[in-house]
Amino acid sequence: MKYKQLGSTGLRVSVMSIGGIPIQRVDQSVANKIVRAALELGVNFIDTARGYTDSEEKFGHALKGVRDRFILATKTPARDAAGARRDLETSLRAMQTDYFELYQLHNVSTMEELEQVLAPGGALEAVQKAQQEGLVQHIGVTGHNDQVLLRAVETGHFATVQAPVNAVERQFIPVLAAAKERGMGTIAMKPLAGGSFTRPQLALRQLLAEPLLDVIIPGIDSVEQMQQNADLASNYRPLSQEEQDLLQAEVDALGKGFCRRCEYCLPCPQGIRIPQIFIFEGYATRYNLAEWAVGRYASLNVDASACVECGICERRCPYQLPIREMLKRAHGNLKQ
Ligand code: SF4
Ligand code: SF4
Repeated sequence: MKYKQLGSTGLRVSVMSIGGIPIQRVDQSVANKIVRAALELGVNFIDTARGYTDSEEKFGHALKGVRDRFILATKTPARDAAGARRDLETSLRAMQTDYFELYQLHNVSTMEELEQVLAPGGALEAVQKAQQEGLVQHIGVTGHNDQVLLRAVETGHFATVQAPVNAVERQFIPVLAAAKERGMGTIAMKPLAGGSFTRPQLALRQLLAEPLLDVIIPGIDSVEQMQQNADLASNYRPLSQEEQDLLQAEVDALGKGFCRRCEYCLPCPQGIRIPQIFIFEGYATRYNLAEWAVGRYASLNVDASACVECGICERRCPYQLPIREMLKRAHGNLKQ
């Protein structure tokens, strides 16, 4: 395995690591096997979140006896201090640990949210206090909006930044560059663009060549995936021209009809979680996880059928996506 320093944190992370969303879909015995395989392969960084249902708990069980061999990162979606403190204490219990190497403010998506977390009584205040108490070693920020993340980096309050970086979403490269200038650690989430690539290994190899990135965290739900990903880093080969062309062809094919999950379209007056629905559709149609995606879609309080076609979302979407048509298609693919 190849390792990098996570910015100036002093943490030495495996460049290919673990994203904690898909662990929700597997049972505890598979989670245990994934963690054991990671250990054997030299993978030492696990990123999860309070919002990923039982992901923290599964990792907590799987890490029994080996917690000290890993660098653990989790996140709170809370914007206020009290909520962040509650989340932190819940996450510590769930992951059966006394501290986190990295604790992140999750999906800070708008300038208003950034102001909220930074304000007196905001989430950052609580996490800084926890840092003084030794519950948190370093504080990070995550998000899907490049301008908000750039501003968050510029505040100087964060040791790391986590952004979706992949062959399609190149708009975050300036965020990574700004973070690196400040000695921050950089973490690439969604390296496979929500499962959009038919040749995921090419997409991961492209990111391994990105000097602005410290660690890549593809979601892992099997030992085989863990092994394949680790092998890409351990036996790294740059993309040949032919492979670059293949990857570019996929990027071109995704074209304009591809939701980047930037969330500019929100809020929908009907309460439709537009990007979430497109993520579920992607899992159903591209990831062979139809049953899981249909179940998650069915659990939404408001699904795509609630759209009254007001068009507000389309006026906000920076990619000019035909969201109304796409929602109809998604509903057709996901409704039980
Ligand atoms: S067009 Fe539909 S999804 Fe878009 S904002 Fe209006 S109700 Fe919401
Ligand atoms: S539909 Fe458009 S605005 Fe909404 S998340 Fe996707 S890309 Fe962003």
